[in-house]
Amino acid sequence: MKENKNYLQLVSILFKEQKLNWEQCKNGYATLDSVEVKVFHFENFSIKLQFNPGRMISTSAKVDAKSINERKCFLCRANLPKEQQAVEYKDDFFILVNPFPIFPEHLTLPSLHHTKQEIKNSFPVLLDFCEDLSPDFSVFYNGPKCGASAPDHLHFQAGTRNFMTIDHEYDLLKEKYAEKITENNSLCVYAIDDGLRKMIVFEGEVKSEIERAFQIFYSSFTELTGQYEEPMMNIVGAFQNKQWRIIVFLRRKHRPDVFFDADEEKRILLSPAAVDIGGVCITPREKDFEKITKEKLEEIFKEVFIVEKEFNTLKIKLKNDLENNYS
Ligand SMILES: [Zn+2]
Repeated sequence: MKENKNYLQLVSILFKEQKLNWEQCKNGYATLDSVEVKVFHFENFSIKLQFNPGRMISTSAKVDAKSINERKCFLCRANLPKEQQAVEYKDDFFILVNPFPIFPEHLTLPSLHHTKQEIKNSFPVLLDFCEDLSPDFSVFYNGPKCGASAPDHLHFQAGTRNFMTIDHEYDLLKEKYAEKITENNSLCVYAIDDGLRKMIVFEGEVKSEIERAFQIFYSSFTELTGQYEEPMMNIVGAFQNKQWRIIVFLRRKHRPDVFFDADEEKRILLSPAAVDIGGVCITPREKDFEKITKEKLEEIFKEVFIVEKEFNTLKIKLKNDLENNYS
């Protein structure tokens, strides 16, 4: 049963309060007005580049086990800054205003418990957030090995809808590149490769159907990649016209080689996660913002996504697995 609580209203009050009474938060949103943006146009979509110095901590976050063990978890409620307020979400999550925003409205949605980042069991919560924060927000997830800056603490994020270019360019991507994997009355699954990004998309209005299909996909992808912890993925979800649209980006690498280049002239601090591949790439350093070309961006994207051969194998496997499960 959907709760009757109006989360959008609570979130709107939370934003007003935090921007008024929390200096760091107020400053974070104020600097958004002056961030520089470039747009790269590809054939049927566009990718923006945002120079945002406020994102340095997140972009360069050390996410190896040792660094994680040595720092205080910034998503545990007990460790939040004293000015930070929260809206409780159902029994196990809470809603926070992100003081280092990318979006005009940027939320962090952590679990109340310090439990590892994983999507397999938390996928239904992602669907709930999509519904409860619609139509104002898109909700996203970064896997523990591809973009989550707190891989030890389960969390989602949400940002102003239609800010990521994929939010509003998806319909065209679907028209131009989608291959139907399966379709029934209540669920469609597509595979899309737009030349830069490879994704599996679930669309439907029955929550349990999407959940079931996602679990089948999860097993197929796990088997294909042999990554038994969690296959690398980023997710961008939304709820519109009474249905969910869940885009899963299929990754094989967290950061591109150029991120670690010993040659400072060549190094580019771009750490692709859901928002970047959803169409708004974040560079916290101005020199990277100046340096990145359309070709460079293309190269980086291709490097961090699964390759065509794997994608083709996954499509066949997923089709079989879904059909066997439904028959
Ligand atoms: Zn924690």
